[in-house]
Amino acid sequence: MRKEKKHLAKMLKDEEQLSIDVKLKDILYALNQSAIVAITDRTGSILFSNDKFTTITQYTKEELIGENHRILNSSHHSRGFFKEMWRTIGTGNVWRGEIKNKKKDGSYYWVDTTIVPFLDEKRKPYQYISIRYEITERKEAEEKIRHLAYNDQLTNLPNRLYSRRKLYEVLSEAKKNKKKICLIRFNLDRLRYINDSLGYEAGDYVLSLVARRLEISFPKYSVIANLGGDEFSVILQDAQNISDVESILEGVLESIQQPIKLKEDYYILTASIGMAFYPDHANTPSELSSKAEQALLSVKERGGGGYKVYEPEVAKKSIERIVLENELRKSIKYGYFHLEFQPKFNLLTEELTGVEALVRWDHPDLGRIPPDQFIGIAEETRIIISLGKWILKEACQQSKRWEEKGYQVSMAINISAIQLKDENFLTTVNKTLDEIGNDPRLLEFELTESVFAAHEEIDATINEIRKLGIKIAIDDFGTGYSSFSYIKELPVDTLKIDRAFIQDLDKGVEGTAIVEAILSVAKTLGLSVVAEGIEEEHQVTLLKELGCEQGQGYYFNRPTDAIECEEFMSPDLRN
Ligand code: C2E
Ligand code: MG
Ligand code: MG
Repeated sequence: MRKEKKHLAKMLKDEEQLSIDVKLKDILYALNQSAIVAITDRTGSILFSNDKFTTITQYTKEELIGENHRILNSSHHSRGFFKEMWRTIGTGNVWRGEIKNKKKDGSYYWVDTTIVPFLDEKRKPYQYISIRYEITERKEAEEKIRHLAYNDQLTNLPNRLYSRRKLYEVLSEAKKNKKKICLIRFNLDRLRYINDSLGYEAGDYVLSLVARRLEISFPKYSVIANLGGDEFSVILQDAQNISDVESILEGVLESIQQPIKLKEDYYILTASIGMAFYPDHANTPSELSSKAEQALLSVKERGGGGYKVYEPEVAKKSIERIVLENELRKSIKYGYFHLEFQPKFNLLTEELTGVEALVRWDHPDLGRIPPDQFIGIAEETRIIISLGKWILKEACQQSKRWEEKGYQVSMAINISAIQLKDENFLTTVNKTLDEIGNDPRLLEFELTESVFAAHEEIDATINEIRKLGIKIAIDDFGTGYSSFSYIKELPVDTLKIDRAFIQDLDKGVEGTAIVEAILSVAKTLGLSVVAEGIEEEHQVTLLKELGCEQGQGYYFNRPTDAIECEEFMSPDLRN
Protein backbone atom coordinates (compact mmCIF):
# COMPACT_ATOMS: atom_id res chain seq x y z
CA MET A 1 0.00 0.00 0.00
CA ARG A 2 2.84 2.36 0.90
CA LYS A 3 4.65 1.39 -2.30
CA GLU A 4 1.62 2.22 -4.38
CA LYS A 5 1.35 5.53 -2.72
CA LYS A 6 5.01 6.26 -3.46
CA HIS A 7 4.55 5.30 -7.13
CA LEU A 8 1.51 7.47 -7.40
CA ALA A 9 3.37 10.34 -5.88
CA LYS A 10 6.22 9.92 -8.37
CA MET A 11 3.81 9.74 -11.30
CA LEU A 12 2.18 12.88 -10.16
CA LYS A 13 5.55 14.62 -9.83
CA ASP A 14 6.56 13.56 -13.33
CA GLU A 15 3.33 14.90 -14.70
CA GLU A 16 3.84 18.13 -12.83
CA GLN A 17 7.37 18.37 -14.13
CA LEU A 18 6.15 17.65 -17.62
CA SER A 19 3.53 20.33 -17.44
CA ILE A 20 6.09 22.74 -16.01
CA ASP A 21 8.43 21.92 -18.90
CA VAL A 22 5.59 22.51 -21.35
CA LYS A 23 4.81 25.83 -19.70
CA LEU A 24 8.45 26.88 -19.81
CA LYS A 25 8.56 26.15 -23.51
CA ASP A 26 5.45 28.25 -24.00
CA ILE A 27 6.94 31.05 -21.99
CA LEU A 28 10.17 30.90 -24.00
CA TYR A 29 8.12 30.94 -27.20
CA ALA A 30 6.13 33.91 -25.99
CA LEU A 31 9.32 35.70 -24.94
CA ASN A 32 10.96 35.08 -28.31
CA GLN A 33 7.94 36.47 -30.06
CA SER A 34 7.87 39.65 -28.07
CA ALA A 35 11.37 40.46 -26.83
CA ILE A 36 14.93 40.76 -28.00
CA VAL A 37 16.72 38.07 -26.03
CA ALA A 38 20.38 37.26 -25.60
CA ILE A 39 22.37 35.19 -23.17
CA THR A 40 25.99 35.96 -22.39
CA ASP A 41 28.58 34.36 -20.20
CA ARG A 42 30.09 36.04 -17.17
CA THR A 43 32.40 38.17 -19.31
CA GLY A 44 29.75 39.36 -21.75
CA SER A 45 30.47 36.94 -24.59
CA ILE A 46 27.28 36.13 -26.47
CA LEU A 47 26.18 32.49 -26.13
CA PHE A 48 22.67 32.78 -27.50
CA SER A 49 20.68 35.32 -29.47
CA ASN A 50 17.11 35.02 -30.64
CA ASP A 51 15.80 36.06 -34.07
CA LYS A 52 14.66 39.46 -32.88
CA PHE A 53 18.17 40.14 -31.62
CA THR A 54 19.74 39.32 -34.98
CA THR A 55 17.09 41.32 -36.83
CA ILE A 56 17.60 44.48 -34.84
CA THR A 57 21.41 44.29 -34.69
CA GLN A 58 21.67 43.31 -38.38
CA TYR A 59 24.33 40.73 -37.47
CA THR A 60 23.82 37.00 -38.27
CA LYS A 61 23.80 34.47 -35.45
CA GLU A 62 27.19 33.21 -36.65
CA GLU A 63 28.63 36.72 -36.44
CA LEU A 64 27.27 37.23 -32.95
CA ILE A 65 27.92 33.99 -31.11
CA GLY A 66 31.24 34.16 -29.35
CA GLU A 67 31.52 37.96 -29.82
CA ASN A 68 31.55 40.24 -26.82
CA HIS A 69 28.34 42.21 -26.35
CA ARG A 70 30.50 45.34 -26.57
CA ILE A 71 30.29 45.26 -30.38
CA LEU A 72 26.89 46.90 -29.98
CA ASN A 73 28.28 49.73 -27.88
CA SER A 74 27.17 53.13 -29.24
CA SER A 75 29.53 55.23 -27.08
CA HIS A 76 26.45 57.18 -26.01
CA HIS A 77 26.65 56.17 -22.35
CA SER A 78 29.35 57.09 -19.92
CA ARG A 79 31.75 54.59 -18.46
CA GLY A 80 30.10 55.10 -15.12
CA PHE A 81 26.80 53.93 -16.62
CA PHE A 82 28.20 50.50 -17.55
CA LYS A 83 30.26 50.27 -14.37
CA GLU A 84 27.08 50.61 -12.33
CA MET A 85 25.34 48.02 -14.51
CA TRP A 86 28.13 45.45 -14.06
CA ARG A 87 28.26 46.10 -10.34
CA THR A 88 24.53 45.33 -10.08
CA ILE A 89 24.44 42.15 -12.14
CA GLY A 90 27.87 41.03 -10.91
CA THR A 91 26.48 40.86 -7.39
CA GLY A 92 23.54 38.76 -8.54
CA ASN A 93 20.92 41.50 -8.85
CA VAL A 94 18.61 42.32 -11.70
CA TRP A 95 19.48 45.50 -13.67
CA ARG A 96 16.97 47.60 -15.56
CA GLY A 97 17.64 50.58 -17.79
CA GLU A 98 17.49 52.16 -21.21
CA ILE A 99 20.42 51.61 -23.53
CA LYS A 100 21.36 53.09 -26.86
CA ASN A 101 23.06 50.47 -29.07
CA LYS A 102 24.65 50.47 -32.48
CA LYS A 103 23.59 48.31 -35.42
CA LYS A 104 25.99 46.69 -37.89
CA ASP A 105 25.40 49.54 -40.38
CA GLY A 106 26.33 52.12 -37.76
CA SER A 107 22.80 53.39 -37.07
CA TYR A 108 21.44 53.43 -33.55
CA TYR A 109 18.51 51.95 -31.67
CA TRP A 110 17.25 52.27 -28.12
CA VAL A 111 16.20 49.32 -25.96
CA ASP A 112 14.48 49.06 -22.62
CA THR A 113 16.63 46.39 -21.03
CA THR A 114 16.33 43.93 -18.15
CA ILE A 115 19.36 41.77 -17.36
CA VAL A 116 18.82 38.79 -15.09
CA PRO A 117 21.81 36.88 -13.76
CA PHE A 118 21.75 33.04 -13.66
CA LEU A 119 23.27 32.04 -10.33
CA ASP A 120 25.26 28.91 -9.42
CA GLU A 121 25.00 27.06 -6.08
CA LYS A 122 27.20 29.64 -4.45
CA ARG A 123 24.82 32.34 -5.75
CA LYS A 124 27.46 33.62 -8.13
CA PRO A 125 26.38 34.66 -11.62
CA TYR A 126 27.66 32.38 -14.36
CA GLN A 127 25.47 33.67 -17.21
CA TYR A 128 23.22 36.64 -17.93
CA ILE A 129 19.99 36.77 -19.87
CA SER A 130 19.02 40.12 -21.30
CA ILE A 131 15.44 40.80 -22.27
CA ARG A 132 14.93 43.94 -24.32
CA TYR A 133 12.17 45.90 -25.95
CA GLU A 134 12.83 48.44 -28.66
CA ILE A 135 11.95 52.02 -27.65
CA THR A 136 13.72 53.96 -30.43
CA GLU A 137 10.59 55.77 -31.52
CA ARG A 138 9.78 56.92 -28.00
CA LYS A 139 13.36 58.04 -27.39
CA GLU A 140 13.43 60.00 -30.62
CA ALA A 141 10.19 61.70 -29.68
CA GLU A 142 11.65 62.55 -26.28
CA GLU A 143 14.78 63.86 -27.95
CA LYS A 144 12.64 66.05 -30.18
CA ILE A 145 10.72 67.42 -27.22
CA ARG A 146 13.96 68.11 -25.38
CA HIS A 147 15.27 69.83 -28.47
CA LEU A 148 12.14 71.95 -28.61
CA ALA A 149 12.35 72.75 -24.91
CA TYR A 150 16.03 73.57 -24.97
CA ASN A 151 16.49 75.10 -28.40
CA ASP A 152 15.54 78.26 -30.16
CA GLN A 153 13.57 77.29 -33.26
CA LEU A 154 14.78 80.14 -35.42
CA THR A 155 18.51 80.00 -34.84
CA ASN A 156 18.62 76.32 -33.91
CA LEU A 157 20.84 77.23 -30.98
CA PRO A 158 20.26 76.22 -27.35
CA ASN A 159 17.83 78.59 -25.65
CA ARG A 160 17.72 80.55 -22.40
CA LEU A 161 16.59 77.56 -20.35
CA TYR A 162 19.45 75.42 -21.58
CA SER A 163 21.96 78.22 -21.19
CA ARG A 164 20.92 78.76 -17.58
CA ARG A 165 21.27 75.05 -16.74
CA LYS A 166 24.56 74.78 -18.52
CA LEU A 167 25.98 77.83 -16.76
CA TYR A 168 25.05 76.29 -13.43
CA GLU A 169 26.77 73.05 -14.45
CA VAL A 170 29.88 74.70 -15.86
CA LEU A 171 30.25 76.93 -12.82
CA SER A 172 30.11 74.10 -10.29
CA GLU A 173 32.63 72.22 -12.42
CA ALA A 174 34.88 75.31 -12.48
CA LYS A 175 34.62 75.67 -8.72
CA LYS A 176 35.84 72.10 -8.28
CA ASN A 177 38.69 72.43 -10.74
CA LYS A 178 39.60 76.03 -9.90
CA LYS A 179 39.03 77.21 -13.48
CA LYS A 180 38.07 80.60 -14.85
CA ILE A 181 34.83 81.06 -16.80
CA CYS A 182 33.84 83.89 -19.09
CA LEU A 183 30.19 84.67 -19.67
CA ILE A 184 29.48 86.75 -22.74
CA ARG A 185 26.33 88.66 -23.59
CA PHE A 186 26.01 89.47 -27.27
CA ASN A 187 23.45 91.79 -28.79
CA LEU A 188 22.96 92.71 -32.40
CA ASP A 189 22.72 96.48 -32.83
CA ARG A 190 19.64 97.96 -34.42
CA LEU A 191 18.01 94.75 -35.66
CA ARG A 192 14.76 96.62 -35.22
CA TYR A 193 15.60 98.77 -38.21
CA ILE A 194 15.91 95.73 -40.43
CA ASN A 195 12.61 94.41 -39.12
CA ASP A 196 10.98 97.80 -39.64
CA SER A 197 12.32 98.51 -43.07
CA LEU A 198 12.53 95.05 -44.65
CA GLY A 199 10.11 93.01 -42.59
CA TYR A 200 10.44 90.27 -40.00
CA GLU A 201 11.42 87.64 -42.54
CA ALA A 202 14.57 89.59 -43.31
CA GLY A 203 15.19 90.07 -39.57
CA ASP A 204 14.78 86.33 -38.99
CA TYR A 205 17.15 85.55 -41.79
CA VAL A 206 19.73 87.93 -40.30
CA LEU A 207 19.38 86.27 -36.90
CA SER A 208 19.92 82.77 -38.23
CA LEU A 209 22.90 83.95 -40.24
CA VAL A 210 24.39 85.66 -37.20
CA ALA A 211 23.91 82.43 -35.23
CA ARG A 212 25.97 80.52 -37.80
CA ARG A 213 28.66 83.23 -37.75
CA LEU A 214 28.84 82.99 -33.97
CA GLU A 215 29.20 79.21 -34.20
CA ILE A 216 32.06 79.57 -36.62
CA SER A 217 33.91 82.33 -34.82
CA PHE A 218 33.72 81.08 -31.23
CA PRO A 219 35.86 78.06 -30.30
CA LYS A 220 34.21 74.63 -30.48
CA TYR A 221 34.09 74.21 -26.70
CA SER A 222 31.98 77.33 -26.12
CA VAL A 223 28.28 77.09 -25.37
CA ILE A 224 26.35 79.52 -27.57
CA ALA A 225 22.69 80.15 -26.83
CA ASN A 226 19.97 82.41 -28.13
CA LEU A 227 18.23 84.07 -25.20
CA GLY A 228 15.42 85.36 -27.40
CA GLY A 229 15.38 87.78 -30.33
CA ASP A 230 18.70 89.46 -30.97
CA GLU A 231 20.22 88.46 -27.61
CA PHE A 232 22.79 85.72 -27.41
CA SER A 233 24.94 84.34 -24.63
CA VAL A 234 28.19 82.45 -24.82
CA ILE A 235 29.86 80.49 -22.06
CA LEU A 236 33.59 80.25 -22.57
CA GLN A 237 34.92 77.50 -20.35
CA ASP A 238 38.44 77.62 -19.11
CA ALA A 239 38.98 81.26 -20.10
CA GLN A 240 42.23 81.81 -18.24
CA ASN A 241 43.22 84.95 -19.99
CA ILE A 242 41.22 88.11 -20.73
CA SER A 243 43.42 88.91 -23.71
CA ASP A 244 42.68 85.47 -25.26
CA VAL A 245 38.97 86.20 -24.95
CA GLU A 246 39.50 89.64 -26.45
CA SER A 247 41.22 88.24 -29.49
CA ILE A 248 38.33 85.79 -29.95
CA LEU A 249 35.89 88.72 -29.73
CA GLU A 250 37.82 90.73 -32.33
CA GLY A 251 37.31 87.82 -34.70
CA VAL A 252 33.63 87.57 -33.80
CA LEU A 253 33.01 91.27 -34.46
CA GLU A 254 34.87 91.06 -37.74
CA SER A 255 32.79 88.13 -38.92
CA ILE A 256 29.54 89.85 -37.86
CA GLN A 257 30.52 92.88 -39.95
CA GLN A 258 30.75 90.91 -43.18
CA PRO A 259 28.10 92.44 -45.47
CA ILE A 260 24.80 90.57 -45.67
CA LYS A 261 22.73 90.57 -48.84
CA LEU A 262 19.08 91.32 -48.20
CA LYS A 263 16.80 91.68 -51.16
CA GLU A 264 18.99 93.58 -53.63
CA ASP A 265 21.35 95.30 -51.20
CA TYR A 266 24.19 94.67 -48.85
CA TYR A 267 23.91 95.53 -45.17
CA ILE A 268 26.62 95.77 -42.55
CA LEU A 269 25.75 94.76 -39.02
CA THR A 270 27.42 95.70 -35.78
CA ALA A 271 27.12 94.10 -32.39
CA SER A 272 27.61 94.97 -28.73
CA ILE A 273 29.28 92.54 -26.37
CA GLY A 274 29.53 92.58 -22.59
CA MET A 275 31.42 90.01 -20.53
CA ALA A 276 32.11 89.02 -16.94
CA PHE A 277 34.46 86.46 -15.43
CA TYR A 278 34.12 83.86 -12.73
CA PRO A 279 35.57 84.13 -10.09
CA ASP A 280 36.88 87.68 -10.69
CA HIS A 281 33.49 89.39 -10.89
CA ALA A 282 30.94 86.94 -9.52
CA ASN A 283 30.51 83.62 -7.80
CA THR A 284 27.03 82.52 -8.77
CA PRO A 285 25.36 82.02 -12.16
CA SER A 286 22.82 84.78 -11.61
CA GLU A 287 25.44 87.25 -10.41
CA LEU A 288 27.67 86.44 -13.37
CA SER A 289 24.76 86.90 -15.81
CA SER A 290 23.83 90.23 -14.30
CA LYS A 291 27.41 91.54 -14.49
CA ALA A 292 27.81 90.47 -18.12
CA GLU A 293 24.48 92.20 -18.82
CA GLN A 294 25.69 95.40 -17.13
CA ALA A 295 28.84 95.39 -19.23
CA LEU A 296 26.68 94.96 -22.35
CA LEU A 297 24.48 97.87 -21.32
CA SER A 298 27.48 100.11 -20.94
CA VAL A 299 28.53 99.28 -24.53
CA LYS A 300 24.98 100.05 -25.68
CA GLU A 301 25.01 103.35 -23.79
CA ARG A 302 28.13 104.34 -25.66
CA GLY A 303 26.15 103.85 -28.85
CA GLY A 304 26.85 100.13 -29.42
CA GLY A 305 29.47 98.37 -31.49
CA GLY A 306 32.37 96.83 -29.57
CA TYR A 307 32.95 94.91 -26.37
CA LYS A 308 33.57 95.62 -22.73
CA VAL A 309 34.56 93.63 -19.66
CA TYR A 310 32.50 94.25 -16.54
CA GLU A 311 33.93 97.01 -14.37
CA PRO A 312 32.67 97.78 -10.89
CA GLU A 313 32.33 101.41 -12.04
CA VAL A 314 29.77 100.25 -14.55
CA ALA A 315 27.47 99.37 -11.67
CA LYS A 316 27.94 102.80 -10.19
CA LYS A 317 27.00 104.26 -13.50
CA SER A 318 23.32 104.10 -12.81
CA ILE A 319 23.89 106.58 -9.98
CA GLU A 320 26.02 108.68 -12.30
CA ARG A 321 23.21 108.51 -14.80
CA ILE A 322 20.71 109.80 -12.32
CA VAL A 323 23.05 112.65 -11.45
CA LEU A 324 23.65 113.38 -15.11
CA GLU A 325 19.95 113.36 -15.86
CA ASN A 326 19.29 115.86 -13.07
CA GLU A 327 22.19 118.02 -14.14
CA LEU A 328 20.95 117.98 -17.74
CA ARG A 329 17.57 119.35 -16.70
CA LYS A 330 19.12 122.03 -14.52
CA SER A 331 21.73 123.02 -17.11
CA ILE A 332 19.13 124.09 -19.68
CA LYS A 333 17.66 126.42 -17.06
CA TYR A 334 21.02 127.75 -15.87
CA GLY A 335 22.43 128.25 -19.36
CA TYR A 336 25.34 125.82 -19.16
CA PHE A 337 24.89 124.89 -22.81
CA HIS A 338 26.22 126.75 -25.79
CA LEU A 339 26.76 126.08 -29.45
CA GLU A 340 29.91 125.69 -31.48
CA PHE A 341 30.00 125.78 -35.23
CA GLN A 342 32.05 123.65 -37.56
CA PRO A 343 32.54 124.96 -41.09
CA LYS A 344 31.94 122.94 -44.26
CA PHE A 345 33.96 123.74 -47.34
CA ASN A 346 33.77 123.35 -51.08
CA LEU A 347 36.69 121.01 -51.76
CA LEU A 348 37.56 122.57 -55.13
CA THR A 349 37.31 126.28 -54.31
CA GLU A 350 37.98 125.85 -50.54
CA GLU A 351 35.15 128.30 -49.93
CA LEU A 352 32.86 128.01 -46.95
CA THR A 353 29.59 126.34 -47.88
CA GLY A 354 27.97 126.34 -44.47
CA VAL A 355 28.38 125.51 -40.81
CA GLU A 356 27.09 122.79 -38.53
CA ALA A 357 25.87 123.70 -35.05
CA LEU A 358 27.18 121.35 -32.36
CA VAL A 359 25.98 121.58 -28.80
CA ARG A 360 28.50 121.96 -25.98
CA TRP A 361 27.87 121.33 -22.28
CA ASP A 362 30.22 123.10 -19.90
CA HIS A 363 29.14 122.12 -16.42
CA PRO A 364 30.58 124.32 -13.64
CA ASP A 365 31.58 121.26 -11.52
CA LEU A 366 31.78 118.40 -13.99
CA GLY A 367 33.65 120.31 -16.69
CA ARG A 368 33.00 119.79 -20.39
CA ILE A 369 30.89 116.74 -21.13
CA PRO A 370 31.01 115.63 -24.79
CA PRO A 371 27.74 115.15 -26.73
CA ASP A 372 28.42 111.44 -27.18
CA GLN A 373 28.09 111.09 -23.41
CA PHE A 374 24.86 112.97 -22.89
CA ILE A 375 22.82 113.01 -26.12
CA GLY A 376 21.90 109.34 -25.57
CA ILE A 377 20.69 110.00 -22.02
CA ALA A 378 18.90 113.12 -23.16
CA GLU A 379 17.13 111.01 -25.77
CA GLU A 380 16.19 108.21 -23.40
CA THR A 381 14.81 110.67 -20.88
CA ARG A 382 13.24 112.81 -23.62
CA ILE A 383 15.13 115.80 -22.21
CA ILE A 384 16.32 116.12 -25.81
CA ILE A 385 12.95 117.68 -26.64
CA SER A 386 13.52 120.73 -24.47
CA LEU A 387 17.27 120.74 -25.13
CA GLY A 388 16.61 120.44 -28.88
CA LYS A 389 14.15 123.32 -28.71
CA TRP A 390 16.84 125.46 -27.09
CA ILE A 391 19.45 124.38 -29.70
CA LEU A 392 17.06 125.18 -32.56
CA LYS A 393 16.35 128.63 -31.17
CA GLU A 394 20.00 129.36 -30.51
CA ALA A 395 21.07 128.21 -34.00
CA CYS A 396 18.30 130.23 -35.67
CA GLN A 397 19.35 133.32 -33.72
CA GLN A 398 22.95 132.91 -34.90
CA SER A 399 21.78 132.36 -38.44
CA LYS A 400 19.74 135.55 -38.22
CA ARG A 401 22.80 137.46 -36.89
CA TRP A 402 24.89 136.34 -39.85
CA GLU A 403 22.06 137.13 -42.20
CA GLU A 404 21.94 140.62 -40.76
CA LYS A 405 25.70 140.95 -41.26
CA GLY A 406 25.09 140.00 -44.85
CA TYR A 407 26.45 136.42 -44.86
CA GLN A 408 24.39 133.82 -46.66
CA VAL A 409 25.61 130.87 -44.62
CA SER A 410 23.72 127.64 -44.43
CA MET A 411 23.25 126.47 -40.85
CA ALA A 412 23.02 122.71 -40.24
CA ILE A 413 21.29 121.60 -37.05
CA ASN A 414 21.36 118.06 -35.69
CA ILE A 415 17.87 116.81 -34.93
CA SER A 416 17.30 113.66 -32.92
CA ALA A 417 14.78 111.02 -33.97
CA ILE A 418 12.97 111.60 -30.68
CA GLN A 419 12.44 115.26 -31.54
CA LEU A 420 11.25 114.44 -35.02
CA LYS A 421 8.69 111.95 -33.76
CA ASP A 422 7.40 114.34 -31.12
CA GLU A 423 3.95 115.57 -32.08
CA ASN A 424 4.81 119.18 -31.21
CA PHE A 425 7.95 119.32 -33.32
CA LEU A 426 6.46 121.11 -36.32
CA THR A 427 4.78 123.64 -34.06
CA THR A 428 8.11 124.28 -32.32
CA VAL A 429 9.86 124.82 -35.67
CA ASN A 430 7.16 127.18 -36.95
CA LYS A 431 7.06 129.14 -33.71
CA THR A 432 10.83 129.53 -33.61
CA LEU A 433 10.97 130.73 -37.22
CA ASP A 434 8.16 133.22 -36.57
CA GLU A 435 9.78 134.50 -33.41
CA ILE A 436 13.24 134.96 -34.85
CA GLY A 437 12.32 135.70 -38.42
CA ASN A 438 15.37 134.06 -39.98
CA ASP A 439 15.40 132.65 -43.50
CA PRO A 440 14.42 128.95 -43.38
CA ARG A 441 16.13 128.38 -46.74
CA LEU A 442 19.44 128.82 -44.92
CA LEU A 443 18.62 125.97 -42.53
CA GLU A 444 19.38 122.29 -42.91
CA PHE A 445 18.30 119.55 -40.48
CA GLU A 446 20.74 116.67 -40.04
CA LEU A 447 19.00 113.39 -39.29
CA THR A 448 20.76 110.11 -38.70
CA GLU A 449 20.17 107.24 -41.02
CA SER A 450 18.26 105.25 -38.42
CA VAL A 451 15.48 107.84 -38.55
CA PHE A 452 14.77 106.77 -42.10
CA ALA A 453 14.44 103.09 -41.30
CA ALA A 454 10.85 103.66 -40.36
CA HIS A 455 10.45 106.56 -42.76
CA GLU A 456 6.73 106.12 -43.41
CA GLU A 457 6.20 107.30 -39.84
CA ILE A 458 8.08 110.56 -40.30
CA ASP A 459 7.75 111.20 -44.04
CA ALA A 460 4.85 113.59 -43.49
CA THR A 461 6.82 115.61 -40.91
CA ILE A 462 9.87 115.77 -43.17
CA ASN A 463 7.76 116.90 -46.09
CA GLU A 464 6.26 119.68 -43.98
CA ILE A 465 9.76 120.78 -42.97
CA ARG A 466 10.88 120.84 -46.59
CA LYS A 467 7.82 122.86 -47.54
CA LEU A 468 9.14 125.55 -45.18
CA GLY A 469 12.32 125.62 -47.30
CA ILE A 470 14.49 123.79 -44.76
CA LYS A 471 16.83 121.22 -46.29
CA ILE A 472 17.30 117.68 -45.01
CA ALA A 473 20.62 115.85 -44.70
CA ILE A 474 21.32 112.24 -43.73
CA ASP A 475 24.08 112.33 -41.12
CA ASP A 476 26.69 109.58 -40.64
CA PHE A 477 25.56 108.07 -43.91
CA GLY A 478 26.62 104.47 -44.54
CA THR A 479 26.67 103.32 -40.94
CA GLY A 480 23.01 102.55 -40.56
CA TYR A 481 20.74 100.30 -42.47
CA SER A 482 19.37 102.38 -45.29
CA SER A 483 20.23 100.66 -48.49
CA PHE A 484 21.30 102.47 -51.60
CA SER A 485 18.27 101.61 -53.65
CA TYR A 486 16.05 103.06 -51.00
CA ILE A 487 17.61 106.53 -50.82
CA LYS A 488 15.71 107.56 -53.91
CA GLU A 489 12.46 107.25 -52.00
CA LEU A 490 13.68 109.51 -49.22
CA PRO A 491 12.84 113.18 -49.00
CA VAL A 492 16.44 114.38 -48.59
CA ASP A 493 18.85 116.90 -50.11
CA THR A 494 22.26 115.95 -48.75
CA LEU A 495 24.23 112.87 -47.75
CA LYS A 496 26.98 113.25 -45.15
CA ILE A 497 29.40 110.37 -45.62
CA ASP A 498 30.38 108.99 -42.22
CA ARG A 499 33.89 109.64 -40.92
CA ALA A 500 34.63 105.89 -40.82
CA PHE A 501 34.59 105.70 -44.63
CA ILE A 502 36.84 108.74 -44.96
CA GLN A 503 39.33 107.09 -42.62
CA ASP A 504 39.21 103.95 -44.77
CA LEU A 505 40.07 105.89 -47.91
CA ASP A 506 43.76 105.00 -47.70
CA LYS A 507 42.93 101.30 -47.59
CA GLY A 508 43.14 101.03 -51.38
CA VAL A 509 40.42 99.94 -53.76
CA GLU A 510 38.23 98.49 -51.04
CA GLY A 511 38.40 101.68 -49.01
CA THR A 512 37.41 103.95 -51.88
CA ALA A 513 34.70 101.64 -53.23
CA ILE A 514 32.01 102.65 -50.76
CA VAL A 515 32.69 106.40 -51.13
CA GLU A 516 32.62 106.01 -54.91
CA ALA A 517 29.32 104.14 -54.68
CA ILE A 518 27.76 106.83 -52.46
CA LEU A 519 28.97 109.55 -54.82
CA SER A 520 27.57 107.87 -57.91
CA VAL A 521 24.17 107.26 -56.29
CA ALA A 522 24.07 110.85 -55.04
CA LYS A 523 24.90 112.11 -58.51
CA THR A 524 22.08 110.20 -60.21
CA LEU A 525 19.65 111.39 -57.58
CA GLY A 526 20.90 114.97 -57.63
CA LEU A 527 21.88 115.04 -53.96
CA SER A 528 24.72 117.06 -52.43
CA VAL A 529 27.44 115.13 -50.64
CA VAL A 530 29.55 116.18 -47.66
CA ALA A 531 32.52 114.10 -46.53
CA GLU A 532 32.72 114.16 -42.71
CA GLY A 533 35.80 113.91 -40.52
CA ILE A 534 38.50 114.87 -43.00
CA GLU A 535 41.77 114.98 -41.06
CA GLU A 536 44.47 114.70 -43.71
CA GLU A 537 45.41 116.42 -46.91
CA HIS A 538 45.60 113.23 -48.95
CA GLN A 539 41.96 112.55 -48.05
CA VAL A 540 41.06 115.89 -49.62
CA THR A 541 43.04 115.02 -52.75
CA LEU A 542 41.38 111.64 -53.08
CA LEU A 543 37.89 113.00 -52.42
CA LYS A 544 38.41 115.66 -55.07
CA GLU A 545 39.53 113.00 -57.56
CA LEU A 546 36.41 110.99 -56.78
CA GLY A 547 34.26 114.06 -57.41
CA CYS A 548 33.12 114.83 -53.86
CA GLU A 549 32.02 118.45 -53.70
CA GLN A 550 32.04 119.29 -49.97
CA GLY A 551 34.01 118.38 -46.88
CA GLN A 552 34.21 119.01 -43.17
CA GLY A 553 36.76 117.99 -40.57
CA TYR A 554 39.65 118.85 -38.30
CA TYR A 555 41.86 119.25 -41.37
CA PHE A 556 39.95 122.44 -42.17
CA ASN A 557 38.66 123.48 -38.79
CA ARG A 558 37.53 122.13 -35.46
CA PRO A 559 34.13 123.23 -34.17
CA THR A 560 34.57 126.76 -32.88
CA ASP A 561 32.68 129.86 -31.80
CA ALA A 562 30.67 132.09 -34.11
CA ILE A 563 33.30 134.87 -34.21
CA GLU A 564 36.08 132.56 -35.41
CA CYS A 565 33.75 131.07 -38.00
CA GLU A 566 33.21 134.50 -39.49
CA GLU A 567 36.87 134.52 -40.55
CA PHE A 568 35.97 131.95 -43.19
CA MET A 569 33.04 133.93 -44.43
CA SER A 570 34.23 135.76 -47.49
CA PRO A 571 32.55 138.89 -48.70
CA ASP A 572 31.28 136.74 -51.60
CA LEU A 573 28.90 135.24 -49.15
CA ARG A 574 27.37 138.64 -48.65
CA ASN A 575 24.45 139.38 -50.85
P1 C2E B 1 27.79 114.56 -35.89
O1 C2E B 1 26.54 115.33 -36.10
O2 C2E B 1 28.15 113.58 -36.93
O3 C2E B 1 28.93 115.61 -35.67
C1 C2E B 1 30.26 115.43 -36.08
C2 C2E B 1 31.10 115.09 -34.92
O4 C2E B 1 32.41 114.77 -35.37
C3 C2E B 1 31.29 116.25 -33.95
O5 C2E B 1 31.52 115.69 -32.66
C4 C2E B 1 32.57 116.86 -34.45
O6 C2E B 1 33.26 117.61 -33.47
C5 C2E B 1 33.37 115.65 -34.83
N1 C2E B 1 34.34 115.90 -35.88
C6 C2E B 1 34.31 116.82 -36.84
N2 C2E B 1 35.41 116.74 -37.62
C7 C2E B 1 36.15 115.72 -37.15
C8 C2E B 1 37.40 115.14 -37.53
O7 C2E B 1 38.07 115.54 -38.47
N3 C2E B 1 37.85 114.10 -36.79
C9 C2E B 1 37.16 113.62 -35.72
N4 C2E B 1 37.66 112.62 -35.04
N5 C2E B 1 35.97 114.16 -35.33
C10 C2E B 1 35.47 115.19 -36.04
P2 C2E B 1 30.71 116.17 -31.42
O8 C2E B 1 30.49 117.63 -31.43
O9 C2E B 1 31.37 115.55 -30.24
O10 C2E B 1 29.28 115.50 -31.64
C11 C2E B 1 29.11 114.15 -31.67
C12 C2E B 1 27.72 113.79 -32.08
O11 C2E B 1 26.78 114.25 -31.09
C13 C2E B 1 27.27 114.48 -33.35
O12 C2E B 1 27.72 113.77 -34.49
C14 C2E B 1 25.78 114.42 -33.20
O13 C2E B 1 25.29 113.15 -33.54
C15 C2E B 1 25.60 114.64 -31.72
N6 C2E B 1 25.32 116.06 -31.51
C16 C2E B 1 26.18 117.10 -31.38
N7 C2E B 1 25.52 118.25 -31.24
C17 C2E B 1 24.20 117.96 -31.30
C18 C2E B 1 22.99 118.72 -31.22
O14 C2E B 1 23.01 119.94 -31.14
N8 C2E B 1 21.81 118.05 -31.29
C19 C2E B 1 21.77 116.70 -31.43
N9 C2E B 1 20.56 116.08 -31.49
N10 C2E B 1 22.88 115.94 -31.53
C20 C2E B 1 24.08 116.57 -31.46
MG1 MG C 1 25.84 116.16 -37.68
MG1 MG D 1 28.11 112.93 -38.57
